[in-house]
Amino acid sequence: MSDKDDKNPLEELQKQVQDMIRKNPGLANLGMGVQQPGGAPHVEAPPPEEKEKDEEILRRIREFSLKPKEIRDHLNRYVIKQAEAKKVLSVAICDHYNHVRQCLENPQLREREYSKQNILLLGPTGVGKTYLMRNIARLIGVPFIKADATKFSETGYVGYDVEDLVRDLVKAANNNVELAQYGIIYIDEIDKIASAGETGGKDVSGRGVQINLLKLMEDTEVNLFAPNDIMGQMQAMMSMQRGGSKKEQPQSISTRHILFIVSGAFDKLAESVKKRVEAASIGFAAHPSDDDEDPYAHLKQAASADFIKYGFEPEFIGRIPVRVACESLQPEDLAEILTSSEGSLLNQYRSDFSGYDISFNITTEAIQEVARQAHAEKTGARGLMTVLERLFRNYKFELPSTAIKTFEVTTDTLTEPDKALKALIVENHHLQDEVWKADLARFSETFRNTHGFTLSFEDEAAEVIIAAATEEDKTIRAVCEQKFKDFQHGLQIISRNTGRTEFAITAAAADNPDKELSQWVVASFKDAQ
Ligand code: ADP
Repeated sequence: MSDKDDKNPLEELQKQVQDMIRKNPGLANLGMGVQQPGGAPHVEAPPPEEKEKDEEILRRIREFSLKPKEIRDHLNRYVIKQAEAKKVLSVAICDHYNHVRQCLENPQLREREYSKQNILLLGPTGVGKTYLMRNIARLIGVPFIKADATKFSETGYVGYDVEDLVRDLVKAANNNVELAQYGIIYIDEIDKIASAGETGGKDVSGRGVQINLLKLMEDTEVNLFAPNDIMGQMQAMMSMQRGGSKKEQPQSISTRHILFIVSGAFDKLAESVKKRVEAASIGFAAHPSDDDEDPYAHLKQAASADFIKYGFEPEFIGRIPVRVACESLQPEDLAEILTSSEGSLLNQYRSDFSGYDISFNITTEAIQEVARQAHAEKTGARGLMTVLERLFRNYKFELPSTAIKTFEVTTDTLTEPDKALKALIVENHHLQDEVWKADLARFSETFRNTHGFTLSFEDEAAEVIIAAATEEDKTIRAVCEQKFKDFQHGLQIISRNTGRTEFAITAAAADNPDKELSQWVVASFKDAQ
């Protein structure tokens, strides 16, 4: 075609499809062109600065040299407890990326049989399973995504296709397919796709999802474009056309080197393992184990047979050789998270408050109380978030508008945060006048910049405005904006008559600005005569 630069038939077609969807929105629901949740990324070349960063990560993967203990030490900076999980994960990660490096050095190795180190993390919610993996991914620099197994459907027709996971990983890698193939995919709630056969037949769709996941975890090629992403496929075709002889963007990605982590709370499994272990100990001097307190403690003893009985396909569970149970977190662990973890939520709150130049000190007893309350939430370290949010909510709202620059969190603060906050504000009331006056000065400056008139508030006027702000629970700015709304029009008349641009705001003017302004205007006409 001689005029192919003027009219690209594919672009024409794309326009037509877009028009069609605009006119028939229902088509979008049939998967026509509109990206479905988790649909394919539109593969475009990453920007140059990203490319440089990606190159550095790829170089680190090609030269991977971390030792298990180095990974463990890195995890220790952020994750409290979970010693066994740290050990097992560090070894599995080193094995995985050493194998990747060896395959890159010697492509013949690719042909050799290799069992991937896919990992199963068991344990209650909020104990650091995801956090461990996120920190590992961050350390190595590889892309990481997390998804819930519950959202998969077997066919992907209604829900989320397992292959969408890989496409999402490509997105997380900024569409750098080469980098994405060394990424980490974390699938939570895996226990939910294995509804147990004990009570009856297995959940058919759960079984289908397991089989699909199995293929993915092995070595398979995933098309970068979901079958229902017509627009994505067309764009790919077009970019290929435009690219001409340039290096083509890949159309698919291999899952050979993607590391899969599956995880779940497995509470029912914990119960059934407990029964099995206890039954086995009958005959011996059976004594109640110390673990009775923690229902998840028995997950450590879960064997493949337990998982199969639970409802997993033997092939599926067999392909996940690395299994490790995370421990429940006790109040003292939660306290340690607050004081020792580099990712501690307290640090986040400190940084939030420092945005207003406010700092706080928290007593040891208060930390223990936060930990105790968080533990009672039964959501692991997530309970800390709930407790701290409850504690600091009103502090974050009130303190930035006060003169308070430092405060102490004690057990009293925790028991009755609002009462403690009120007491703190009353205690510092003498400093508040300065803050309000500064707010008033700021309003005055904005007024001058906007309208060209200087308003000088007399002390009595400031008192009137402060009283209004306190009474109506408004900021000084809001009170002034309301009181002096349209004030500039009267001032313009006065200025025309007298040349004045500076105005003293008396208590009377602050109390009833419109009335006062009318009198000023009348007087200005007299002055002009
Ligand atoms: P899950 O075990 O359900 O995957 P997460 O790892 O997502 O839980 O934990 C939620 C948050 O709680 C993390 O982002 C982290 O801030 C904190 N957290 C959980 N466990 C720990 C831990 N052992 N040490 C430090 N922080 C933790």
